[in-house]
Amino acid sequence: MYQKQIEQLVVLQQVDDEILVLEDEIGKAPRELEALEEQLEGFRKRKEQIEEKLSILDEQRKKLGGEIEEDDAKIKKSKNKLMLVDNTKQYHAMMREMDSLEKLNRMREEEFAAVKEELARQADMTRELDEETAEVQKEYDAKKATLDERVAQAQKQLDKLQKKRAKACEVVPPPILGRYEFIRSRLDNPVIVSVVDSVCTGCHITIPPQEYNELQKGKQILSCPNCQRLIFWSEHAGGAE
Ligand SMILES: [Zn+2]
Repeated sequence: MYQKQIEQLVVLQQVDDEILVLEDEIGKAPRELEALEEQLEGFRKRKEQIEEKLSILDEQRKKLGGEIEEDDAKIKKSKNKLMLVDNTKQYHAMMREMDSLEKLNRMREEEFAAVKEELARQADMTRELDEETAEVQKEYDAKKATLDERVAQAQKQLDKLQKKRAKACEVVPPPILGRYEFIRSRLDNPVIVSVVDSVCTGCHITIPPQEYNELQKGKQILSCPNCQRLIFWSEHAGGAE
């Protein structure tokens, strides 16, 4: 009976370790998706900003284009009129006006070129962003498609382990089980360890001779006086450890 209890406690420990891994797996999948969703949301916001900038720039481009065209027409008209003028004073006045119009338009042309350059730069950024978005979206879609399957598989495995766990718990008396749970919630793994040549393999400290004798008798489940882990004599559980 004692030997069986030890065996099942060791099984319980293995099962509980596997359960932890599976629970982590089940929780991890949705978190991965969430992270990708956040990334995509960031891309969407950036795209909105770029689009807003693009529309402002486009308006600027149209406005400048219109103004340039308008003043070009004015200059052309003045040039035609200039041929008909025979008054020197009037001629110079018109020349000055044309000069200033031409100067203004040259400045506008420069600004126009700068706006066009910025438009091209923003368009490049949009393209890059679209490519990046498509890649992350692809990853997201693939993950989402397999998520349910992954979780279902892990859950199935988990159910199997819970059954194995329940079976192991049937063999171990409740007080021992309570001790097991208590240690598990407070100490690093493992919970149950073997004692080899009177040394606890959990904390590597020697068990006092009297307790080591008791342990070798194999009558009741003992705890290591130092680390409090459940202990068994290595000779008792043949290869259980
Ligand atoms: Zn110990």
